[in-house]
Amino acid sequence: MAEYQRICLVHYHEIGLKGHNRSKFEMRLLKNLEAHLCAYPVVTIHRISGRLCVFLKEGTTHDTMVECADAIRSIPGTARVSCGFKCERDLDQMTEAGILAMGESGAFASFKVHARRNHTDFPVNSMEINQIVGGRLSEAYPQVKVQMKDPDLTVGIEVVQNAAYVYARSIPGIGGLPVGSSGTVMSLLSSGIDSPVALWRIARRGAVCIGVHFSGRPQTSDASEFLVDDIAHVLEKTGCIARVYVVPFGDYQREIALSAPPELRVILYRRLMFRVAERIAFYEHAKAIVTGESLGQVASQTLDNIRATNDAVSLPVFRPLIGSDKLEIIAQSQQLGTFPISSQDAPDCCTLFMPRNPETHANLTAVREAEAAFPIDQWVEELACAAEPHDYACPAYKPRKKSLHDLMTENDGD
Ligand code: ATP
Ligand code: MG
Repeated sequence: MAEYQRICLVHYHEIGLKGHNRSKFEMRLLKNLEAHLCAYPVVTIHRISGRLCVFLKEGTTHDTMVECADAIRSIPGTARVSCGFKCERDLDQMTEAGILAMGESGAFASFKVHARRNHTDFPVNSMEINQIVGGRLSEAYPQVKVQMKDPDLTVGIEVVQNAAYVYARSIPGIGGLPVGSSGTVMSLLSSGIDSPVALWRIARRGAVCIGVHFSGRPQTSDASEFLVDDIAHVLEKTGCIARVYVVPFGDYQREIALSAPPELRVILYRRLMFRVAERIAFYEHAKAIVTGESLGQVASQTLDNIRATNDAVSLPVFRPLIGSDKLEIIAQSQQLGTFPISSQDAPDCCTLFMPRNPETHANLTAVREAEAAFPIDQWVEELACAAEPHDYACPAYKPRKKSLHDLMTENDGD
């Protein structure tokens, strides 16, 4: 039997819906895949009529192909990945490749062939391919039943302009849109369970995410910063995070804690966090703020308090977990791989200077009045200027030439 080149075929239904933007979206997914598959024996990745095809090097083993498909499935924008072979537009070759693909598919009791022909210059239509190749595969696997409805295995055949692709193993991807197709957001990232999940959900909708972490430093250790770095490395594997700004926040919290009404402290901390995130967002051309809040989960997440924090900024604030229960969030955090890191305890600004009885129904006027006692605008500038950027691999992100710190210090004295 001939040797056929191994391929992974990437299906992406949502991108197909984007009309004239389609090719932009396809190119974004292609670039993201190229960057993330650099450790695999990939020759090239091409667009082939409504799919991306990852061509693997000669001699690539079945196991490596499966590992490559597993890496592809977690890249946002991937609806499904199929593993198989490239062959010529020839029914004998399609049959041979089909036999090989079926042989690598484990146990199955029934199958069907599903062919797609994108060019009518191939004289045999899809129905005929199904019948002819299906008949021959059935002869090769006489113990297996041909079944049109819900078969255990579907052998896919895609006939395009100058080749055919045949596969049997097909796994669902995480779906969504390629990172970089929906703009940039600032994501408030603690070392807790929720915010990494929130970030990932927005990244899966195509946003490049830039994290901001408020550390209790110098009033606490920098332990939370290490956890956030570990979390960012997990998110980096799927290209979801471009950068994290670490903001030493402890001294400013202390100032608030010394003189603000104790019950309003948390809201004042949070308003300051939002404002600093918004300041960095302007620099990064980010158009929204993301948090991991879930309605009513803790005192700061009541409707009144959410409203009182939103009031501090003009950018839209997205809360992808607002309607999720903690157990659902934990399950997703486990799938993502951030849970073991997030469950470690580290003091950050959230554990610092906490009041005994935080307000659960903040009055906006009272909050604004309490805040007016502090030089907030000056603090926002100082904190944004002190923010330390840490970079992660995100092929869709292009950092600005000048750092925020340099830009801000250059303007001093203007
Ligand atoms: P998480 O598990 O994400 O820490 P949480 O349940 O502990 O959330 P809060 O402490 O009220 O809830 O935080 C709500 C949201 O505010 C977080 O999801 C995150 O987006 C943001 N946030 C909280 N603490 C920090 C921090 N130290 N740095 C950056 N963002 C933070
Ligand atoms: Mg937290």
